[in-house]
Amino acid sequence: MKVKETGVSYYGLSYPEHAEKDFREMIDHNCNAVILALSEFDIDFWFPNIVEIAKRAKGLGLKVYLNTWGIGKWFGGEPPSLFLTNNAGNRQVSAFTDEVLPAACFNTRSFREYFFRLCEKLAREVPCDGFFWDEPHYALPKSYASITGGVGDDWACRCSICQRDFADRFGYDMPRQLTPDVIVFRQDSALSILIEASRRIKSINPDAKIVCCVHATINNYYVQEKRGYDDWDKVCRTGEFDVFSTTILNYSLPRSYFREITQRTVDAASKFGKTSQRWIMNYHNQPEDIAEIKEIAHLYASMGVDSLFGWTYRGGSGTVLAAPSALEMWDMLGEAYGEVLSDDSKIK
Ligand SMILES: [Zn+2]
Repeated sequence: MKVKETGVSYYGLSYPEHAEKDFREMIDHNCNAVILALSEFDIDFWFPNIVEIAKRAKGLGLKVYLNTWGIGKWFGGEPPSLFLTNNAGNRQVSAFTDEVLPAACFNTRSFREYFFRLCEKLAREVPCDGFFWDEPHYALPKSYASITGGVGDDWACRCSICQRDFADRFGYDMPRQLTPDVIVFRQDSALSILIEASRRIKSINPDAKIVCCVHATINNYYVQEKRGYDDWDKVCRTGEFDVFSTTILNYSLPRSYFREITQRTVDAASKFGKTSQRWIMNYHNQPEDIAEIKEIAHLYASMGVDSLFGWTYRGGSGTVLAAPSALEMWDMLGEAYGEVLSDDSKIK
């Protein structure tokens, strides 16, 4: 089986003529799509050139997806958040300690409106094929990978807005314990902002595909990480999303885990009529034998994945998160893409 889409993320956008050279290099590496990772600062400061850079990518035949990268520290990613810099409030709060956390509460009207304005501006002015929701998550509960509970029991968000909305819905004060009602409330409100943003984007650009990419976590009966998007069926059932995607896996994990995550991704996507996407690590961590990247790309293709993406362009070369052999990784990813991308999807 072959995949229909291959691409990488691309950040540090500044000058269109430089970006165009990089896009040509991506095409030489058998990419037919690019995800532009846009930080809040990029969108605020470099906006005219983002528009031009997206035009150049599309002009070369690449599909272009816009990634609201690290925004509010709600989405995954390293960039700092302008919203957090410019607002002292509207932040997530620890349920156990009432400490204010360095992450925007996406249930507050202030952050929601900020995010919608930003998405609408991008949808109106930047030519693109879709938007990429990159590892959205609540602050804190990543440490939930514990069968018996314990140190990871704290959770967010229990700010005054979340408490008010919970009480309005359930008719009693929001508990400090992660009860079934709290779990449902967290999941529903985590999806609510993405659903509304997706609707607004599609009302401006009806052809825009919405890719929802969640953490590739175990989430079985015993172990759940409670990031808010852990119920994959619930995420996939969302009508506004077109593509269901799960994130990269570290190469030190057993290949059986790669298969399991990918099977669950493909199954969840097909159950709800979505296309599927899997990510390949192309920064920070590399396999003992770099050629294993090809095996993984072939594995994903053979399991029926529609879209393959690598994080990131040039293996993250020049950043603190570069793979040890960043450029070799990038070249190997390009070769792998050449072998698994269907011929009619290749940019000639
Ligand atoms: Zn909150």
